[in-house]
Amino acid sequence: MTYIADSERYGTMLYNRCGQSGLKLPAVSLGLWHNFGGIDPFERSRAMARRAFELGITHFDLANNYGPPYGSAEETFGQILRKDLAPYRDELVISTKAGWDMWPGPYGDFGSRKYLIASLDQSLKRMGLDYVDIFYHHRPDPQTPLEETMGALEQIVRSGKALYIGISSYPPEMTRRAVEILEDMGIHLLIHQPSYNILDRWVEDGLLDVLEQEEVGCIVFSPLAQGLLTDKYLKEIPPSSRAARPDTFLNREDVTEQVLRKVGCLNEIAQQRSQSMAQMAIAWVLRKPVITSAVFGASRVEQVEDIVAALNNLEWTEDELDVVESCLADST
Ligand code: NDP
Repeated sequence: MTYIADSERYGTMLYNRCGQSGLKLPAVSLGLWHNFGGIDPFERSRAMARRAFELGITHFDLANNYGPPYGSAEETFGQILRKDLAPYRDELVISTKAGWDMWPGPYGDFGSRKYLIASLDQSLKRMGLDYVDIFYHHRPDPQTPLEETMGALEQIVRSGKALYIGISSYPPEMTRRAVEILEDMGIHLLIHQPSYNILDRWVEDGLLDVLEQEEVGCIVFSPLAQGLLTDKYLKEIPPSSRAARPDTFLNREDVTEQVLRKVGCLNEIAQQRSQSMAQMAIAWVLRKPVITSAVFGASRVEQVEDIVAALNNLEWTEDELDVVESCLADST
């Protein structure tokens, strides 16, 4: 049966302008790093993508090596497009990336022109797309000249295979230099994608200032610290959770007593705000106007719904922010 999206889908979502560009992104975006791979049940992935779109999430974030196996999240998303979302292509912002290891040999990793151009061509085939909206260099490359990597991104935009370009996890000064190189080529860097959450605040040490000054958008990844910033681990490690799965980057050892003390303390603030812990973690990263969007992951439809409902309470008092700080300080 042909999929018809809910006509009310734009009723409640908040859209933020991305830096100085004309592009707006939803305040929360769906990431396909986990739970969209070849090993995951297709119908569950499909249901999450559809529900996200119905709730106004127009932005889906991918990378060449999301899966497992590598490439399979793009294949899954290609299938979701073909079955459901293709008629809505012009309502979607689809991103992908290259920069981490993807294929064997010297041309499937880091930041050469050779790697980035070939990788995007592969990504487009897997998703069945002519172009992506945003193409990212996924991580800094200490060996390839920045001019080459930025030149590859420029070439990709000029060829029409991406509308905008982004960088991920670049430190502040390298970000500023990337902006300058691109400006010289007549392109404004659209967006930076760093990690940011209550437990991981490296971006506050210079990067956010650079993005504000250069008017570059910011979409933060792992806003829930991969699920640690929810109430799920407070009693035990549930068997279906990311920390219990063997194929993820969150391990049982990451669920430490110290983290649990902090999250327990934060959870009390969430309850006072009448929010779930996950919702409060989203509201916390969005408190700064420089943050365009938070890209979250989900393993089921209810989590997508819970995250979108975070937008019902994005306000913070100074007192609440102080209590967050004291939760972090007290339990170290
Ligand atoms: P999150 O910090 O949002 O963690 C997602 C996990 O949190 C889910 O898998 C789920 O865990 C749990 N969760 C989500 N919502 C809820 C809820 N409402 N209640 C309880 N638990 C919840 O982000 P990710 O680490 O998944 O990263 C998000 C996206 O960021 C990725 O998909 C990717 O697009 C991007 N990313 C980019 C990187 C880069 O280098 N640029 C690196 C990493 C991510 P569970 O599975 O246990 O249910």
